[in-house]
Amino acid sequence: MKTSLVQHQADLSGVNIAETTQNPPPYNNQIQTDLYHVGPTVPTQQFITVQAPQMGPKSVRYTCPSCRASIKTRVEYVSATKTHLCALLLCCLCCWPCACIPYCGKSCRNATHYCPNCSAYIGSYIG
Ligand SMILES: [Zn+2]
Repeated sequence: MKTSLVQHQADLSGVNIAETTQNPPPYNNQIQTDLYHVGPTVPTQQFITVQAPQMGPKSVRYTCPSCRASIKTRVEYVSATKTHLCALLLCCLCCWPCACIPYCGKSCRNATHYCPNCSAYIGSYIG
């Protein structure tokens, strides 16, 4: 009888130790949430700096955010949905030889700007 009682107490103390070792993590979490609550303007400021700049359809002078070099952006034109719609419209108007014009023009296509030095993505223009 006595030995079984001791064993039960030992088990209880073991549970208590486990609980006390688990206590610090929730306390640390509370500190982290408090820090986040103190400075709510920091995440919004970071979002503004990360935001891609407004780009035009042509190559522009820009300071690369990746390699910090003053570069002229390398532009790659990608056919947009609007390009295909323009071509389809020209086909429907029996101007099918002109259907390729939207693919040649730059105004109907999306322009993606890259850094010529490090090939980093800089921004895009939706035509
Ligand atoms: Zn670069």
